[in-house]
Amino acid sequence: MASSPNTIPAASFADSAGASPGTAAAKLDLTAEIARDLIRFDTTNYGEGRSNGETDAAEYVAEKLRALGLVPELFDSEPGRTSVVARVQGRDTSRPALVVHGHLDVVPADPANWSVDPFAGVIKDGLLWGRGAVDMKNMDAMILASLQDVIGSGGAPERDLVIAFFADEEAGGVLGSHFLVNEHPHLFDGATEAISEVGGYSITLGGQRAYLLQTGEKALIWVKLVARGEAGHGSRMHPNNAITRLAEAVAKLGRHEWPIRLTDTTEQLLGEIARILDVDPQRVGPDELALATGTASGFIQASLRTTANPTGLTAGYKHNVIPDAAEALIDIRSLPGEEDLVLAQIQEIVGSDIEIVTMHRDIGLETEFSGPLIEAVVSTLERHDPGAPVLPYLLSAGTDNKALSTLGIKGYGFAPLRLPADLDFPALFHGVDERVPLDALVFGRRVLTDLLSSY
Ligand SMILES: [Zn+2]
Repeated sequence: MASSPNTIPAASFADSAGASPGTAAAKLDLTAEIARDLIRFDTTNYGEGRSNGETDAAEYVAEKLRALGLVPELFDSEPGRTSVVARVQGRDTSRPALVVHGHLDVVPADPANWSVDPFAGVIKDGLLWGRGAVDMKNMDAMILASLQDVIGSGGAPERDLVIAFFADEEAGGVLGSHFLVNEHPHLFDGATEAISEVGGYSITLGGQRAYLLQTGEKALIWVKLVARGEAGHGSRMHPNNAITRLAEAVAKLGRHEWPIRLTDTTEQLLGEIARILDVDPQRVGPDELALATGTASGFIQASLRTTANPTGLTAGYKHNVIPDAAEALIDIRSLPGEEDLVLAQIQEIVGSDIEIVTMHRDIGLETEFSGPLIEAVVSTLERHDPGAPVLPYLLSAGTDNKALSTLGIKGYGFAPLRLPADLDFPALFHGVDERVPLDALVFGRRVLTDLLSSY
C-alpha cells in the first residue's frame, strides 16, 4: 500500500477518527471500517481486459459473509476476476427473492490529481476519501454492515436475499454480472427485483432535501469511428487525409445537439420537481427544471436526451507520415429502446465514408415508479428522514442491473445516503478526491437494515 502524509495508520483509528467529528474517542462505524478496508484493495479496472483484479477484495467480503454464517461462492470468469454470491434465507420464503448487489472494481485514479492517496482509505474532516468511496465500496460496506445488523444476532430478513459482489462493472460487466447471469443463472433463482448503486442519495431542491431513486438506465453503445484514407509523405498535397476526415466527423458529432425527449420516468421526475418548486412545468422548460436540482443537474440533464461524447483518438505513427487510418472512441448513451435509431442518426452526422464499429453495447431499462418495493423504499426513507420526498430518475449511465434484467429481474438504484447540501456528490462518481461523509454511511446502514428487515 502506498503511503501518504495524510494516511492515518489503521491502528490509530479507534482513538483518532470517528463518525462524529469533534469526539476524538468515537469509534469508526463498521460501515466506514469496511469501506476503508475495501478502498485499500486497489481493484482498478482499466477497461479492454486490463485490470488489477478483484480477487483480494472478493476474499475479504467472502470472509465477512462467512463470519455471518453464510456460505459465499466465489466465481472467477478469468484469473483474478472474482465475483462473490451468497444467499440469505428469509422469514417468508413464499416471497420472491431480492438481489442486493455491488461491484468490487473501481475506475483508475491518478494520484497526481488527488489531495490524498486514492488507495489509502484516508479519514479526514468527517469523510472517508478514496477511489470507490462513492462508486461503490460505500454501498458494498453498507450491504455488509446492514447484513450484520439483520442476521448477526440470529435474525433474518423478511424475504430471501441474493447478496452479490460483482467484478468488472466498470467495463460493462462482461467478466462479472454478465458472466454470472450467463454461466450461473441459478444463483438468482426466484429473484424478481434488485437494488444497487447510483440512486438513493439526497439532493437539495429549492431548500428542500429530496431523494433520487433510480428506476431506469439509459442504453450504452461504445463505438469506434474509423476514417480510412491514403497513406503518404507528410510533405505532399493530400486531400484524402484520414486524420482530417476523422477530425471533421468527431467535431460534428461532439457538437451535435440532441433533442430533448421525455420518457415516463423523466416526465414524472420533472413533474415532481415542478410541484416541489411550485412552478408550472408547461411554462418552465425541462432543462431549467433539471438545473433546479443543483449538483444533480448534470445527471438529470443527460437523462433528457441522447449523448454521444468523443472519449479517445488514435492515429499516426511518425511526424512526416500520413497514416492510412484514424480512429475515435465515442461513448453513446441513448434513451432506452432508441439504440438502433441513434446509430443510424450518428452515421448521418459523421457521413457515410466513416465506418462505425460497435465495440460494446447494452440495453436501456425503465421500470414504473410504483409497486411494493417502491412503497417500501419510500416509507423506509420517511421513517429515517421524515418529510423528504422520493423522486424517480433515469440514470444517464449504466449498472449491473442491465445484466440482471436479462433474467427478468427489475433493478433499482438505491444506496441510501443523506448528504449535506454543499457536497457535489454526483461529481464524485469517477471524480478526483472521491469521498463520502462518515455520517452518511451510518445513515445508509440504518436505512438498508430497516428495508431488508421489513420488505
Ligand atoms: Zn459503480
